[in-house]
Amino acid sequence: MITDAKSIPAGTQINTDICIIGSGAAGIPLALEFENSRTRACILESGGFEDVVDYSDVYHFISRGLPVSLDSRTQGFGGTTRAWAGIWKPHDEIDFRLRPWVKYSGWSVAFQELSGYYDRAAQSVGAFPLEFFNPPLDAKTLEDSTLNTTLVRLMKPEDLDFGRKFKSRFENADNLHVYLRAVVTSFESNPGHTEVQRVRIAAPGKKEFTLTAKIFVLAAGGIENARLLLLSNLGNEHDQVGRYYMDHPKGKVGSVALNHDINIDLNQYFGAEDSAGKVFAGLRLSDRLQEQRQALNSYVQLSPVYEQEGFMGKTARKIFGLKRKMKKIELRNFMEQEPNPDSRITLGEKCDSLGCPRAVIDWQISEKDKITMKTLHEVLRDKLAGLGIGKLESPLLEKNLQDWPIKTDASHHMGTTRMGTDPRTSVVDPNCKIHSVANLYVAGSSVFPTGGYANPTATSIALALRLADHLKNRI
Ligand SMILES: Cc1cc2nc3c(=O)[nH]c(=O)nc-3n(C[C@H](O)[C@H](O)[C@H](O)COP(=O)(O)OP(=O)(O)OC[C@H]3O[C@@H](n4cnc5c(N)ncnc54)[C@H](O)[C@@H]3O)c2cc1C
Repeated sequence: MITDAKSIPAGTQINTDICIIGSGAAGIPLALEFENSRTRACILESGGFEDVVDYSDVYHFISRGLPVSLDSRTQGFGGTTRAWAGIWKPHDEIDFRLRPWVKYSGWSVAFQELSGYYDRAAQSVGAFPLEFFNPPLDAKTLEDSTLNTTLVRLMKPEDLDFGRKFKSRFENADNLHVYLRAVVTSFESNPGHTEVQRVRIAAPGKKEFTLTAKIFVLAAGGIENARLLLLSNLGNEHDQVGRYYMDHPKGKVGSVALNHDINIDLNQYFGAEDSAGKVFAGLRLSDRLQEQRQALNSYVQLSPVYEQEGFMGKTARKIFGLKRKMKKIELRNFMEQEPNPDSRITLGEKCDSLGCPRAVIDWQISEKDKITMKTLHEVLRDKLAGLGIGKLESPLLEKNLQDWPIKTDASHHMGTTRMGTDPRTSVVDPNCKIHSVANLYVAGSSVFPTGGYANPTATSIALALRLADHLKNRI
């Protein structure tokens, strides 16, 4: 069932078993796990089907550190899947490990445990199982003991918007109920803040209603998950909510001036099509070198730039079956960030139209983040020169770099309610439950303790399905 909250009379109190806040990449697959079961699950979603959103200003935030794009998420049924690019990439095994050289690293869930959930996640949304991420041998031209080839895959256009793709399943399921244009403004808890009793919801026309449930799951995205906890003074006994804010700083920096007559086939690094669709190979430092150099798991893609050609040139090339002439290769960089407690979200003094303080984001890039990327460029420079491919020219190779050039956010908001076993350095436990609250869970990339370079949504959905299994045993 799908209901516009506009039709709910003010003061109504709704009751359900599981209440999920947010219908995005994490919330929709989580809710669908209960489809046609005896569990009543409901989603509260602040947006509607269309782009016009009441209370759209609740999504505005203030950047105090490096700028975070205001367009980095979307309100509406489907959440940010209405706008995302659909790049699917499970995290690497090393991302889950405790890396002694990366403070606060180490997940409470191992890659081996999550691997089955990656495959289930792929099946649930029409993406790619893990076996599709082993680069074939002929796609490892640049691989050696210092560099690893890694693949990311692009989902099909018809699978991208989860709202559109799964709408009818929600319309037809009696036990799943979606309330659109229903903005959760706070959680109400018992006096000790150990149990959520209800959520307060603002609906169009300045109406308010409430919802009670046995279990609540925050799936409102990496910024709002932290903001709603801060607004409700929940789970923050150790001042951890909102800290460790990470993204994947990205940018085109560095290019390879090519030697003439290269004998090596690099085509697999330039975006290929195989039986499963579009695939891009990139390069990261090998696990061994990361350990040796105390580096993070960052990554570059190689992007070819071709010589300009006129109509005649193009026609002649096609007739004679010649290859397009490449001018240079540009590097597209994606950085892992080390967890930094000072890179954080707090509440500001200014309020939105519902009277709730706005999020203030102080996003920071650390020295280790930068040194990792410099190391990757150095290793790549030596590799490309050694194979006679060309000369890497990059500002990161300069000794005295003044202004760090890779600082565009990738709209991947991670770490603000991180998972761990110690409440002094984390917000949720290994089951994604808020340490101090008996019935409040979190889904989405805000629970990632570290971010790797992988686009976050594959892991968010895998974790959401793992959470669903936990809740099925609990409810
Ligand atoms: C342009 C762009 C391209 C991207 N490309 C990729 C990519 O290729 N691969 C990848 O892995 N990731 C990509 N991402 C990131 C990806 O889209 C997000 O990581 C993912 O959608 C987050 O899922 P989520 O469910 O946690 O949050 P969202 O998908 O953002 O959903 C959260 C939902 O919660 C609702 N909500 C928020 N607050 C409240 C409230 N108070 N009350 C009720 N509802 C609320 C919102 O309206 C929203 O619908 C991209 C993002 C952008 C912007």
